Amino acid sequence: MKPPAFHYVRPETVAEAVAAHAAAGDARYLAGGQSLLATLNLRLDSPDLLIDISRIAALRGVRREGDQIVIGAMTRHVEIAADPLVSRYLPLLVQAVGHVAHPAIRNRGTIGGSLALADPAAEMPACALALSANLEVAGPRGTRTVAADDFFRGTYQTALTEGEMLTAIVIPIPDSPARPGFAELARRKGDYAMTGLAMMAGPAPRIVWFALSDRPVRALRAEAALVEGKGAAIVADLATAGIFVTGDQNASPDVKRHYARVLLARALKDLGLS
Ligand code: FAD
Repeated sequence: MKPPAFHYVRPETVAEAVAAHAAAGDARYLAGGQSLLATLNLRLDSPDLLIDISRIAALRGVRREGDQIVIGAMTRHVEIAADPLVSRYLPLLVQAVGHVAHPAIRNRGTIGGSLALADPAAEMPACALALSANLEVAGPRGTRTVAADDFFRGTYQTALTEGEMLTAIVIPIPDSPARPGFAELARRKGDYAMTGLAMMAGPAPRIVWFALSDRPVRALRAEAALVEGKGAAIVADLATAGIFVTGDQNASPDVKRHYARVLLARALKDLGLS
């Protein structure tokens, strides 16, 4: 199918893009287009205006600022996989990004698009939580910062309000004892996960599930058990304690709870914590 007719602009700055959105009303930011264009082709959405943000230089690339890594929202998955700063300081992202779809999609899709879309089965939102990221946002009322913990509000729902654009992902460089863990179950490599786990082990562990609930969600009880020095079997048994697990086309909530327990046990073993 073809998309409904739309107007198109390609601004050079964030301010121009935000102004174009405010003037149009019914507009969408176009990043890599890997999800948005499919949505239009399926006629699930029909905005008046697409604002292509791919030429905004300020939204591209990875840089270090003090003890933080700043990733521009328009940085593509493939660029994250190859970036030396990400490899050195944020290896969790390198592990995870290889599970995002297929090479053709990773060549165009962006980290900002992935976070703004907020698919509950996506890898990057869970990593943002596991890495305690802060998300920088620009909109008609200026700029603000939203913690990843507060950003995801439900299936395809975020804290972004009308006309706001995600501009950057700011990640504190993890302390040296913190180590990444990642595991996911998918029917085929590149498919969206049936259940997945992104975690940082260390003195203040973060264990985050994706494809388990309506948004990426922390396993707070399992994290507390790790801090208390409980054994891996006990921690894994708490994988989904206190979490509202939703079923989907892949599995019922009970099956997902089982997957989660298995994935956490595997990740703990890989980290030498079993
Ligand atoms: P777009 O498609 O351009 O935009 C997506 C949405 O986000 C739109 O509503 C758009 O307006 C909004 N948006 C984009 N950027 C911004 C911004 N900076 N600020 C505010 N709003 C913004 N993803 C996974 O995580 N895991 C997978 O396994 C996976 N498998 C896939 C398989 C297929 C076949 C396809 C087509 C996609 C898959 N994806 C998967 C999605 C892919 O990762 C996309 O890259 C991602 O969903 C969206 O990124 P994008 O840059 O293409 O965004």
